[in-house]
Amino acid sequence: MATASDTLAAIAKYEPVIGLEVHVQLLTNTKIFCSCSTKFGNQPNSNVCPVCLGMPGALPVLNSKTVEYAVLAALALNCQIRETSIFARKNYFYPDLPKGYQISQFDKPIAEHGFIEIKTANGLKKIGITRLHMEEDAGKSLHDGFPDAANKTAVDLNRSGVPLIEIVSEPDIASAEEAYEYLRRLKEIILYTGVSDCNMEEGSLRCDANVSVRLRGQKEFGTKAEVKNVNSFRFIKQAIEYEIERQVELIESGGKVVQESRLYNSQEGRTYSMRSKEQAHDYRYFPEPDLLPLVVDARWQAEIHKQLPELPEGRRHRMVAEYGITEQDAGVLTVTKNFADQFEEAARVSKSPKRVANLVQGELQARLKAYNLDIEHSPISMKGIAMSADLAEAGTISSKILKDLYDLCFERKEDFPAIYEKEKPEQITDTGAIEKIIDEVMAANPKQLEQYRAGKKTVKAFFVGQVMKETKGQASPGLVNELLEKKLEG
Ligand code: ADP
Ligand code: MG
Ligand code: ZN
Repeated sequence: MATASDTLAAIAKYEPVIGLEVHVQLLTNTKIFCSCSTKFGNQPNSNVCPVCLGMPGALPVLNSKTVEYAVLAALALNCQIRETSIFARKNYFYPDLPKGYQISQFDKPIAEHGFIEIKTANGLKKIGITRLHMEEDAGKSLHDGFPDAANKTAVDLNRSGVPLIEIVSEPDIASAEEAYEYLRRLKEIILYTGVSDCNMEEGSLRCDANVSVRLRGQKEFGTKAEVKNVNSFRFIKQAIEYEIERQVELIESGGKVVQESRLYNSQEGRTYSMRSKEQAHDYRYFPEPDLLPLVVDARWQAEIHKQLPELPEGRRHRMVAEYGITEQDAGVLTVTKNFADQFEEAARVSKSPKRVANLVQGELQARLKAYNLDIEHSPISMKGIAMSADLAEAGTISSKILKDLYDLCFERKEDFPAIYEKEKPEQITDTGAIEKIIDEVMAANPKQLEQYRAGKKTVKAFFVGQVMKETKGQASPGLVNELLEKKLEG
């Protein structure tokens, strides 16, 4: 029997080859070839018409928004746009496919030859994007939730005709980690373009992973298996890891990988054969006779290009340079476009963007986590953060007070400026009063005073802390610093 270390040794002899096919649902209001709503969660079979029901004689009319969104995504993914692309019929039988074919694109897709740059242990790596094409979604078969009878299936065609783009990668991905990183970056870029919400639970982003292994140094690819429709990035990573191990063990024990589709069972952590090559698809593609060739000329391309926002990687570089924050700061602050927009709004009005960045990552994130909120639902706006940062920077409030005020904001669900107005601490700005406290603190800590006077200037921070403690954080930090300096010097 193979032990775990045997398996590891065997895996080391092999090199995984992975290519991903990602379907992304576009955020158009209406479907790709009819004016039915694309809204998720409506009553089953309520967003339908003769076109998306596949009635004979009903004709498709292309939604131009779909084209714009597809081109926008393609540009963001460094693809070349094909001026004249062709829709094609992909024929197959499935209960949720009323026409018996899906309108897709085949040999002349809207975009090709793109790439995504990912970070790997060995530095940056470009993963090629073979093609990006448009297609309509199929309906949905529902197998559960029939109390009256088991083994029933119903079909909901609300999703039939919803616009998708499919993004097919080159087999450039060499590990489960790289696949994960590729997907993370892909999703981030698509989200920035705004063409999809990439909501995996609602099926707005779906991924099929093609996996094969070959002996290191071998030129030809091994036979691939395709793991279908895994619904989280973490599971895709696990499914790929499982698949690599399965294929290596199979080959090492004298077997052969068969080309097939497999399903991942996340509870068991393994993949299962779904259909074998005997049933391999012949889609009998041919050009869709009901649609003209699609022409996206240079002028239209340029117009769409103007809508392309700054993309996350470029934005991170700019933010590091502009606000003097670290790369790590920039990584956290650009998690979503909205988050980054908000940060920049605050950073631009604040005198200390670096402090804003620290507050967002520290005090704000900690409270968001404790209250289980995402940034969009933060009671403290970025303007509030900017205001608090400036108050702290100017020494008007101590960090202790800032924290207390943040706590109040979260408890009362009010923004910082409002809470600050109401709860603004009585600042002790009375020089005499502060001096008195300083004298007391110095008298109570002769050892530290001796250290300071012997040249250990860092002990000053200790004294500042003690004075702030005595005044419950209400002394003006600026004043405390100034007065302490004089007194400590003697
Ligand atoms: P199919 O016709 O089976 O869908 P394609 O050539 O269109 O195959 O490729 C589909 C995906 O599989 C692409 O992402 C591609 O990079 C990837 N792929 C192709 N050959 C292999 C292989 N031998 N191992 C792993 N992935 C592969
Ligand atoms: Mg395929
Ligand atoms: Zn319709």
